[in-house]
Amino acid sequence: MRLLVESRTDVGRVRAGNEDALHVADDARVVAVADGMGGHQAGEVASATAIAALQESLAGGAAVGDAVSNANDAVVAKAADDSALRGMGTTLTVGVLDGTTLVIGHVGDSRAYLLRAGTLRQVTTDHSVVAELVATGEITEAEALTDPRRAMITRVVGIESPIEVDVLPLELEPGDRLLLCSDGLTTMVRDDAIAEILATEDDRSRAADELVQAANLAGGADNITVLVADVVADEPPTEPASDESGGPTLAAAMADTAETPAVTEPPPVTDEIAAAVDPDADLAEVRAAVEATAPRRRWWPRRSKS
Ligand code: MG
Repeated sequence: MRLLVESRTDVGRVRAGNEDALHVADDARVVAVADGMGGHQAGEVASATAIAALQESLAGGAAVGDAVSNANDAVVAKAADDSALRGMGTTLTVGVLDGTTLVIGHVGDSRAYLLRAGTLRQVTTDHSVVAELVATGEITEAEALTDPRRAMITRVVGIESPIEVDVLPLELEPGDRLLLCSDGLTTMVRDDAIAEILATEDDRSRAADELVQAANLAGGADNITVLVADVVADEPPTEPASDESGGPTLAAAMADTAETPAVTEPPPVTDEIAAAVDPDADLAEVRAAVEATAPRRRWWPRRSKS
């Protein structure tokens, strides 16, 4: 089993800088998204520090949960060293492919989704005030999109040690499609629209572009990071030496692994994207509400209920 990955990170249309960070290992067996918070450039430092420490820990053989904990400790230590960085933090959602299992480590309100047989499912649980309110039925998911508390997260990497990490093993099947993303996508584009794009755009590079475009079309109130990964079976054994012609299988394998040129100019917003973003025709309402406030993420200390 292996992953074929396309990723994008975009500043959006409101923020001055991009505090999101992403990582794709050379062999695509590690994928990660981090969304930093903090004044000035501190959010960028937090997300970059967490991703770097995560990589180092995984390379050293750490389990996923321990690697996220080590990333947390690295951000806590960096913030303690520099008063300008005090209070910085970051979400961190990572997937590590181990055989046919993707082991997900997760803190915060970035998300992992699984698209299987046309159905999109959120695999991670948001560590946020509004997610708790939705879970208890106090507000609806639609209300959560514009709730003034939507930027308050209840668990974050880099504020305190130790940290509680969600570790979620996910059994993969060939044909599955994964999405890792920051809240700059999910606060702007509803799940049914995300599902529409992922299910109908086979080209994962274009799917990634369309997700970013959809978030920007809806207002782009925050940095937008998306990572689309297609799950494929390992390549069949090498062809016999007599077959040097390079049949369709080899050509397909080469196409899958070929470098995709960097996208310098985003594609135009198509009618299909516009329609997908707004299946219920209240996009203007959502956009107005989000653009009006565009709240910065804040940590909301809360003891676990359990
Ligand atoms: Mg964000």
